[in-house]
Amino acid sequence: MTLNPPGQKILLHVCCAPCSGAIIEKMVADGLKPTLFWSNSNICTAEENARRLEVLKPYAAEFGVPVVEDEYDHGKWLEYVSGELSCGQAALGSYPERGERCAACFRFRLSRAARYAAAEGFDCLTTSLASSRWKSLEQVDDAGRRAVEQLPSVAYWAQNWRKGGLQPRRNEIIRERNFYNQTFCGCEFSLSQSENCNK
Ligand code: SF4
Repeated sequence: MTLNPPGQKILLHVCCAPCSGAIIEKMVADGLKPTLFWSNSNICTAEENARRLEVLKPYAAEFGVPVVEDEYDHGKWLEYVSGELSCGQAALGSYPERGERCAACFRFRLSRAARYAAAEGFDCLTTSLASSRWKSLEQVDDAGRRAVEQLPSVAYWAQNWRKGGLQPRRNEIIRERNFYNQTFCGCEFSLSQSENCNK
């Protein structure tokens, strides 16, 4: 598989090193020069956000790929997602993964990435969000398309990053690098769901 992005100045929104490792490797191997955009206010604590980011940074540096850090504000994320779902923040825990909470979560993060892309002259935005089989590709692509709707200079690159051998390569890289591979998606609701599953 040869990558064919809709533009050459690529902003790759990254959710974590395990999900983005194979994508970065493939882009660089295909002669692309992405900039990584770390925007993950969904993560429930600043410590966990920093832990995940610190795994990504040396990997990105090895490939000569810059990392831009967006502000981390979990309160703002909670406010946005509960507003989108017209419910109190405590009620967000009643939504399952791949449900409406996740769709709103993707919209929050990708709209921030799209605004940054437009402001900084990127012509193309994509994301590692759907490289995990736990995520809905349709939800992620819908959020990406909506994020660029009002931004004519930025195209959303809807690529299925599980195809073309990238899914097995993803798992190999995690093993080879011994990446910290978190057991929950990021928000407190996914944390408590994963704790309940492990009981
Ligand atoms: S489970 Fe993951 S994708 Fe869904 S709302 Fe929580 S952090 Fe976002």
